[in-house]
Amino acid sequence: MANCDASRKLIFKVAVPVPLDRLFDYLAPDGCHPAELKPGIRVMVPFGKRCQVGVLLAVEHSSKIESDRLKQVIEILDAAPLLSESDLRLLQWSSRYYHHPPGEVLAAAFPVALRQGRPALLQLPRFFSLSRQGQATLPEQLRRSAKQQVLLAMLQTAGGAVPASALSDYKPALKALLAKGLVQEQAPGPVSLPQLAKAALCANPEQQAAIDAVIANLGRFAVSLLEGVTGSGKTEVYMQIIARVLEQGKQVLVLLPEISLTPQLEQRFLQRFAVNMVSTHSKLTDNQRLQAWLSMQQGYAAIMLGTRSALFTPMPRPGLIILDEEHDSSFKQQEGFRFSARDVAIARAKGLGIPILLGSATPSLESMANVVQRRYQLLHLPNRAGNATTPSFQLLDIRNKKMQAGLSEPLLAEIHATLAKNQQALIFLNRRGYAPVQICHGCGWVSRCRRCDANLVIHAAERLLRCHHCSSEQVLPKQCPACKTGELQALGLGTERIEQTLEAVFPDKVIVRLDRDTTQRKGSLEDYLEQIHAGRVDIILGTQMVAKGHHFPRVTLVAILDIDSGLFSIDYHSSEKLAQLIVQVAGRAGRADQPGKVILQTRHPQHPLLDILLSKGYRAFAQSALSERRQAGLPPFGHQALFRVQAAIAEEPQRFLQAVCQAIGELNSDKVQVFGPVTAPMARRAGLFRYQLLLQSPQRKELHQLLDNLLPAIYALKEAKKVRWSLDVDPVDLY
Ligand code: ADP
Ligand code: ZN
Ligand code: ZN
Repeated sequence: MANCDASRKLIFKVAVPVPLDRLFDYLAPDGCHPAELKPGIRVMVPFGKRCQVGVLLAVEHSSKIESDRLKQVIEILDAAPLLSESDLRLLQWSSRYYHHPPGEVLAAAFPVALRQGRPALLQLPRFFSLSRQGQATLPEQLRRSAKQQVLLAMLQTAGGAVPASALSDYKPALKALLAKGLVQEQAPGPVSLPQLAKAALCANPEQQAAIDAVIANLGRFAVSLLEGVTGSGKTEVYMQIIARVLEQGKQVLVLLPEISLTPQLEQRFLQRFAVNMVSTHSKLTDNQRLQAWLSMQQGYAAIMLGTRSALFTPMPRPGLIILDEEHDSSFKQQEGFRFSARDVAIARAKGLGIPILLGSATPSLESMANVVQRRYQLLHLPNRAGNATTPSFQLLDIRNKKMQAGLSEPLLAEIHATLAKNQQALIFLNRRGYAPVQICHGCGWVSRCRRCDANLVIHAAERLLRCHHCSSEQVLPKQCPACKTGELQALGLGTERIEQTLEAVFPDKVIVRLDRDTTQRKGSLEDYLEQIHAGRVDIILGTQMVAKGHHFPRVTLVAILDIDSGLFSIDYHSSEKLAQLIVQVAGRAGRADQPGKVILQTRHPQHPLLDILLSKGYRAFAQSALSERRQAGLPPFGHQALFRVQAAIAEEPQRFLQAVCQAIGELNSDKVQVFGPVTAPMARRAGLFRYQLLLQSPQRKELHQLLDNLLPAIYALKEAKKVRWSLDVDPVDLY
């Protein structure tokens, strides 16, 4: 009898967010009803000495573990599943594909608040309007409160319902008017009907072709790649397609690489669409992100704009996914669950049976190859929209040229000429700080980080030497720590130093520096961008940050100071990244009615990459780079997975990887090549010694089969306990 009882017990299969590659069995809590137990609800479970929020994936009647050893679920947190079956399948597929523990992958689908077990409670925005009595009341009649008078007058001017967020300065007054019956709360409205708030532009023929092509695919899975230079009107294409999806009552997910780009796009969308729209990114509070997620999940919002982590936001009425700047490497998560938001977004669109649109001025080589193989449909906007012209390029050979801290004289002359015409110049250098290293002219001492194989960067304004890899810092020495007498010099260039030079050369001009150091304070980037747009800035100087998507209509000169360092990197990705960067930075020039000019300072004007890119364009570059990759068997023609390992004791990572190699040998897979173990390009970081091992195979399937068989063996290795290791499937950089 006891047996029979036990077999009737319900066993919960739960994904618990711990670094173990399996699900965990729990006994159902007392008195739960099997009919309500759908996969996708959150449960609180005991785990070790702590409680964890897990996700229920299945309910079964048996477990391999004896039931008296099983622990019981503490609490069921959701009445209904938060994730759909399709999304649960996607997440489980992602866990297998990236060989990452399922509990951690599922956790990635939720905003932090839900991961912590907070209730999935959507606080709908509240709206207030005047009652009949309120409409008939004159503000002067509210003699005793000025605030109430102002509020009443405001609501009378507004005429209709006003969101609570607009009344946050009037909380007590609002309460008082509610109590007096002059104001009433509206019942939360339905999702507002899609209607164009601001008319669409009249699409040019190429735009129209792109719009039609994607619209023809609504309701089924298809991948389209929209290739168009900056300013060619991609965003306009997105908006016109979105309008159609909204008309069908469906939802749209728009993914962007950068937080800083959301406000701009949000603004344009707000002007165009009269629907509920939410944004989500890391600068919002946990509750704001929870509310944005729930707004989509409950179908209240019709559009979500977000960065990588928004990818898994549930949509009850999915219509379309757009992923802008698809080539951007920030779509790849670089720690923990190392997924590619682009690749998983495509898998998601497939699972949901909806189209996905990738956009870029410089599509990734992977996507270009998929176009060639007819997996993606290519849509092309060859010209700039409106009347903006394409910028002209100039390679400026700086060999033997007189330089002022990184700026050649011909370049300075160009900047002068641009400013004289009252136009803006944009200077790009991908290195922040004052100079990348401090050196002693007397004895050759250099400022090295004690914990990393890296130099300490000079931050002159803060009087600091700082490591950009582990953030350790020290006061900038005035005297050489080694010989005490030699003269200390700054070696190389950073944006801070360029800024100083520019200030000296152009003392009466306004220079704005945009890099991680100047934009740390919340809102500072927005302030700078506003100044730039208002035309109060003459020279914009910056790192990556200026390369991405911002509109600088008054910029007519763009200068890239140092491209040479990107020409000779050991990582095969770097030429692709450099070509993309050059085109992207160039895209900031001459967006309005002024033609733009792009100057590249180099000591290698004959370099084949620069030659093909500038004479034949990005597509020709991509074709040639792809044929090189094909010959070398590199992605996308080969498939890679990279083990990264680190430990405080130098020998441990190597020992671990040797054990991994041995396990690979025992699996006998001759279709997977093994490179390593080797020391990582940065052999020591933050005090840890680093090694890596690269696996590569012409067949994706072979690689994944090997990993499937290998990983259980790795988890069981005793060497694994002494190191921190991770596996990066489809790595986008080999560092
Ligand atoms: P992208 O997203 O490719 O950088 P945008 O959509 O932002 O390009 O368009 C660049 C500029 O051209 C914007 O100012 C936009 O309003 C304008 N534009 C886009 N499409 C058209 C069009 N069909 N007619 C006129 N102007 C357009
Ligand atoms: Zn010295
Ligand atoms: Zn360091």
